[in-house]
Amino acid sequence: MAVFKSDIVEDLYEIGEVLGSGHFGQVKKVRERATGTSWAGKFLKIRRKGGSLLGMDRTSVEREVEILQALKHPNIVMLKDVFESRSEMVLVLELISGGELFDFIAEKDNLLETEAIQFMKQILEGLRFMHSNSIAHFDLKPENIMLSEKVSPQLNVKLIDFGLAYRFHQGEEYKSTSGTPQYVAPEVISFEPLSTAADMWSIGVITYILLSGMSPFQGDTDEETLRNVVAVHYEFEDHYFKTTSSMAKDFIQKLLVKDSRERMTAEECLLHPWIKPITRKQVANRNRSSINMRNFKRFNAKRKWKMSYNMVSVCNRLVNMRLVCKHRSDTDLLQRQCESDVEDSESNPSSLLRRRLSSSS
Ligand code: ATP
Repeated sequence: MAVFKSDIVEDLYEIGEVLGSGHFGQVKKVRERATGTSWAGKFLKIRRKGGSLLGMDRTSVEREVEILQALKHPNIVMLKDVFESRSEMVLVLELISGGELFDFIAEKDNLLETEAIQFMKQILEGLRFMHSNSIAHFDLKPENIMLSEKVSPQLNVKLIDFGLAYRFHQGEEYKSTSGTPQYVAPEVISFEPLSTAADMWSIGVITYILLSGMSPFQGDTDEETLRNVVAVHYEFEDHYFKTTSSMAKDFIQKLLVKDSRERMTAEECLLHPWIKPITRKQVANRNRSSINMRNFKRFNAKRKWKMSYNMVSVCNRLVNMRLVCKHRSDTDLLQRQCESDVEDSESNPSSLLRRRLSSSS
């Protein structure tokens, strides 16, 4: 059982600037008064009333905390402390100051596959550890892959946001329809029993985007995207994959496989010749190939624009909702919620809302 401290977080930490926002709260830089060390505080609003739609339910936060406590790995964000008050829970996390990996890459003029692979390797190391502990992330996407520092001899990848993560128990079946359409595996959409293999599908999508700047299943609407995922409808268009090695395509093809049992595992990925070349020819192929930087920059700019657009439109909707709020306390919460970024919720079909709406064991 996770232990939540009942101390007032402000007594122990000085609260600083906002680092990011999520659906149920904000992440702020905090400074530990006793040591002067900086951390990231994830402030999550807790749902008070059973029927309220505002805030997270306590058990979801407990699940996130228990999972983070079980995951001590250099490529996974570290949890230091947890505090609980009447309306809020605060997760004190390792401060990750290098920003999103995709933003870091988008600032470069060019990137060889060999360099991109150094990042992929770290993502896979984190996943291998997670999966060996029977934990699946279920929300892998560029926003949740960060860098501990922007400048250091070894750029260290950190996986964050374990809000949808799940720990499997022997013989148990778990289903969920939470996720983000572009990155979600077919079995999530068809509401089939899930496994850690769903994360490997997302790795296939992320790798495809990283190399080409194209999203393999993206349709004009979320419904179309989901249909493309279920049909495994994607291709390697020559125009976007001119500089991609055949090994990289093979790596993606072995992940974007409908049958989750046939997909490569994180362990197998780390042994794939694209990640771990054996012959000189394989090494040379990787060194000759590069990512489609022009298109990747375009993809990333669009992604960032969409994130801020959605934040504004959700805020507008929340402000309108105030008109129908009966209780003042709910209205206040809505107002605070308005500070949060709610990516993609504008266009999501109700059957696949991004967060915690329809998971079941
Ligand atoms: P969502 O509902 O969108 O999934 P969330 O409420 O679960 O979000 P996170 O995704 O964990 O929250 O964090 C929101 C944002 O805060 C991240 O996208 C990132 O920019 C920032 N952030 C999260 N954790 C850290 C950290 N440890 N260090 C620095 N920034 C962080």
